[in-house]
Amino acid sequence: MSASRQTITLRLFGAGGAFSRRYGTTCSMVTLRDGKRWLIDCGRQAPDQLHAAGYAWHDIHGQIITHCHGDHVFGLEDFAFVRYFETHDEVMASSRGGPLPKYISHSAVRDEVWETLAPSLRYLQDGRGNLRAGTLQHFFDVIEPAATEAPRKNPWNHSETFEVDGLRVVTRENEHVPGKPSCALELNVGDDVDPKNPRIAWWSGDGTVDAAFLHSIEPRTSIYFHDCTFIDYPGQVHGFFDKLEALPEAVRRKLVIMHHEDNLELYRSRVEVAGFRIALPGHVYDLIGGQQLV
Ligand SMILES: [Zn+2]
Ligand SMILES: [Zn+2]
Repeated sequence: MSASRQTITLRLFGAGGAFSRRYGTTCSMVTLRDGKRWLIDCGRQAPDQLHAAGYAWHDIHGQIITHCHGDHVFGLEDFAFVRYFETHDEVMASSRGGPLPKYISHSAVRDEVWETLAPSLRYLQDGRGNLRAGTLQHFFDVIEPAATEAPRKNPWNHSETFEVDGLRVVTRENEHVPGKPSCALELNVGDDVDPKNPRIAWWSGDGTVDAAFLHSIEPRTSIYFHDCTFIDYPGQVHGFFDKLEALPEAVRRKLVIMHHEDNLELYRSRVEVAGFRIALPGHVYDLIGGQQLV
């Protein structure tokens, strides 16, 4: 792993919405100053997206999950099994004593992730006759929250904060499908950790536009990535563009739209007039300075 880097970067492997064919399901890679790589979400196309970008699962230090929908988690089984069974370069298979990839999500999301993975991952034998002894912890080093914020309207914690190996991330309940655990992420990108007022890069996961909240964190936010849809409907669960367009200019200038539909180009001029940038597969952003690098 290389020596200390100047910045923290985020590379988008997939930048499209749930049913995107053109832009791919969501999976991004955050590379910290020490070179450690973390994935944000792991959609159903993630195994092939990583391979096409020249990475193996063994190059990934840890995984962060925002919520349990197939376009965000259906690549996880591949990640888990490949790291468990396969040795790659100098990284040993985890079943043979190699390192487990780290795993971070809000605990309510983690429960749903395990419900999704269990039919595949639970068939490990414990040597005492139990053929279904497998747990998420057999495949990932599951990180427990360092701090929690009590529930507001839902039964799960409003936020959980994780700190591990130089990464600090807050997973905060957002509004996606009513009743379903889902989180936005606040990635600490500050040099000095000030727990009360950390400098962050903000990632919406999937969720509706919370204008007051986005405005409130603007002074300490270097860059926002927001789920975006151009289609409105009753019971909206995504970031409707008209609502993004109505955000204060200071927020819009820092905001990159992602998780968009395949007909994005129809709206490009409107998007650019509003001052947004558009995330596409292969783009790389500097999470400290907020600018696009590639
Ligand atoms: Zn999604
Ligand atoms: Zn979703």
